Parts: sequence; C-alpha cells; structure tokens
Amino acid sequence: MAPHPRDLAVAALTAADLAHVVALVAWPDPEAGRLPDGRPAAVLVADHGGRARLDEQHPDGQVLTGRNPLASTDPLAFLPYEQEVADPSPDHERNAYPLPWLRLSSFFADRRSPDVAIVHTAGHYFPEVGGHRGEHGSLDVIQSRAPLLLSGAGVTARGRLATHARLVDVMPTLAHAAGVPAAHLAGLDGRGLDDLVEPGATHVIGLLWDGGHPGSLLDLAERGELPAVARLLARGCALEGGAVAEFPSLTLVNHTSALTGVGPGRHGVVGNVYWDRDEERRVVPNDASTWHRTAELYRPGVETLFEVVAAARPGARTASVNEMTDRGAWASTFGLVRAGLESGAAHAGDPGTPESRDFVSVVRRLLPDPLVSPFVTTRRCLEDDDYAFYSAIDLLGLATMSGLFSAPADEVPAVAWWSQYTTDAGHHAGGPRSGIATDALRDCDRRLGAFLDQLDSRGLLEDSFILLTADHGFEAADPAVRGMWTDALAAALDPLGVGWRDEGPGFLYLDT
Ligand SMILES: [Zn+2]
Repeated sequence: MAPHPRDLAVAALTAADLAHVVALVAWPDPEAGRLPDGRPAAVLVADHGGRARLDEQHPDGQVLTGRNPLASTDPLAFLPYEQEVADPSPDHERNAYPLPWLRLSSFFADRRSPDVAIVHTAGHYFPEVGGHRGEHGSLDVIQSRAPLLLSGAGVTARGRLATHARLVDVMPTLAHAAGVPAAHLAGLDGRGLDDLVEPGATHVIGLLWDGGHPGSLLDLAERGELPAVARLLARGCALEGGAVAEFPSLTLVNHTSALTGVGPGRHGVVGNVYWDRDEERRVVPNDASTWHRTAELYRPGVETLFEVVAAARPGARTASVNEMTDRGAWASTFGLVRAGLESGAAHAGDPGTPESRDFVSVVRRLLPDPLVSPFVTTRRCLEDDDYAFYSAIDLLGLATMSGLFSAPADEVPAVAWWSQYTTDAGHHAGGPRSGIATDALRDCDRRLGAFLDQLDSRGLLEDSFILLTADHGFEAADPAVRGMWTDALAAALDPLGVGWRDEGPGFLYLDT
C-alpha cells in the first residue's frame, strides 16, 4: 500500500536536518477514532528522536519509538525566573511542553485544525514568512505562560504562589467573582479559581496585556518599575506558573479561550489564520479588518463572559474594551466599529487588500495621537510602527475605561474587560527583556496606574476585584537559527500530486 501523505510529511518534518527549526509535530492518531465530545481519542507527537502517543490515560505520552519527544511537561519549568533568564529559548531537548494532551486534543477537535501541527523550536527565526525577534505560538512553556494576578475585593494578599492555572480558568474566575453561580459555569474546560477569590465584589475587572511576559512583569514590579502592577500585587496574589495558554499560543485563540472558558476545539477560533475545509478558503481572523467579526467564527454552544453574567444577573452592565471577544457586552469597542461599518461610513475589506489598508488608515486617524501622550514612550513609536499603532489603541482603551468608570455610581459597569496591546508590539520588536519590550510594559503600567487612581479617587477601588493576565508569553528568536521546512515538504508531497497548504506557518493541511 502506498504511504499516506501525512506519514510522508511527518517523516520529512522530523528529519534530523530540520531539528534546529522543528521541535516536534503533532496529529490526531488516525487509528484511534474520536471521543464522544469530538476530540481525537489519541494524539501522536514525533520529533527526530522518537514518537509518543497521548490519550486520557497517558496525558504526558507513551513512547512508541525512540524517546518521548516531550522531555518535560512541567508547567513550572524554568522557574524561578532566573532559570529562564539563564537559559532563554532553550533547545527542544531541554524544553518543557505543559498539558500536552489537554491542549492538543482540544485543538484537533475542530475541523478547522490542520492535519499536522508543526511546532517551531523556541529559537527559530523566520522573518521571511512573518517571524519576529520575539515570538509565540509554540506548545512550549515560556511561549504558553501568561501572567495571572488576582487582586482586591475577595482576594487574600498572599504574594507569589508557586502554582499555575489555565487561561480557560479566567472566564469562570471572573464570573465567579461577579456572583455567577457555579452551576452556570459547569461544563467549561476551565474552572473558577474559587480557592483564591470570594464572590461579592461590586466591580469585576479583567485586564489583558497582550503578550505581557509574566517573568518580566513580576520581576519589574518587584524592582519598582511597574508600580501599578505592584499595587495589584500588594492587595492580592500572582501565580508564578501563570495561566497556561491554549495551543497554539497565538493571540486570537487565547483571547477567545480566556473569555469563553473553553479551548479552541470548542470555540472554533483555532488560529490567527487557518484553512476552512468546508468553505475552501483561507480565514484570517486576527487582522485589523476582521477583529470586529470574531463572533461569526464561534461554534454553537459558546458563551462569553458577558453572556454568562447577563444570564445570571439580568440588567448588570458589562463592558468589553478593545477586545475582540465582546458578544453580549452592554458596551463594546468593536460594537462601535460594527455600527460604523453598518452605517456605511467605511468598508473593512478583506485582509491584505487595498480596501483593508484604507480602512486601517481611517481607524488610525480616529485614534488618539501617541506622540503627544504622557502614557507613551514616544521614541519607541518612531522606532516601530506597530508600537505606535497599538499605543494609540491603548490610549483609546484608557479613555474608554475612564469614561465608563466616571459614570454615576449605579451606571458603572459591574463587569469590565480591558485589553492592551503595546506589550505584544514591544516583545515582537525586541524579544523579552529588550528595551522596547520593557518600555511597553512600563507604558501599559502607566495607563493602568491612571485608571487605578481614578477608581481610588471615586472610592471604587476598595470594592473592585481585578484580574491581570495575557494571551500568551514570549520567547526571543535566535537570528542564527534560520531555515524553513517548505522545500522538504514539497519534496515529500509534490511527487504524489496531493495539494497541501502550510498556513501560519505551522498548520499543514493535506488534500486541499
Ligand atoms: Zn497576542
């Protein structure tokens, strides 16, 4: 019998001469079938040195040949932070891949997921296909580790805790704090952290700093360089292992996971870009021209934080500020974008088209000017255009939060979520611990400080529960680690005449 194209692709990708760029590949075990919930009954992982099978009974993998490609699955690997600093972007053999079964089985539950997922090595640098000096997306622990701080009303000040949670725990934790009964939160992938927070806060506030590196965040806060984060920590706790992001550790996958409490296999947003087999088209949900349409991708049964709060507490005001997950929110930034587009004031176009670029130009002209703001390190905007764009977005976020929380007391949101993005731009531009990444954290902290001051001056801070997280971590690419697997895949697959696509790169679709 002729070999299956998937097996030829796996063999090509796990060749020793690609081991510097391919950490491992993963795919559903074709012989194992599906679980009743739609997940594959088993997932296979392979690298150049071996192959293992993961399932419910063997969540860390059972070796099939050679050695286990997942040398460690410790969510607390590279802690304390000094260990990460001493061994940044570790080789695959020294790396850790936490919760591999839970995360991979969720990812492969949706038909939008690829036939084979290719996990880049921590140091892989691929600027020719969109890679940056700082990168995320991997299954590995550092790119998957988002910060998790809980603070204020209902939280006992306990400082740092040597434990971890999952990013899918964020939604049920906020809902629990907001008084949503546990029965309304049953059946999610995540669980409310009810051992760390008591319900009853008048205001529940979720903060997301996109790609906000947890080690840097806590280290800088302790050194007095992020005073607003330090204020949160003084009245709460931080999990040193943070919140483990869903796979892949990409932006839209994990904003959605954090705010719906379920992984990509259930919400359906499997990547920033993916191939839709049913519609035979490339979908790019993480784009300035498509962010406002994220909810169109949700699979049936998905509920956002805002919908869960509205169901349990009819009439409670909720706000989603600068956040793509906003369905059901009383006030929403992207709700305004949709209203503007529906009025015909502008057209968003498709990603990458001249129309979408015009749309982004229009949006930029409407945003605050980051070059004249005390909350922005303006020289970084001149260095990096993404830093300028996301600084402008983050200033709009601060203005929106400030407006919502200056309303008369009974009109202030009971539940609010505010995403900031400059941290992602700074870390992409320079990698963790670079000057531009550190300035991005400082800028986000200054904006948060202004908001905390406002809450304090109105007497609202005491009764507010605040959670700070991110959508993923970040690791520095090594400019010496270059190369791609495209030629190897072409050599393996093209002679068979099978169509294939590598989206991302790293999402390999066969028979397209
Ligand atoms: Zn992100």
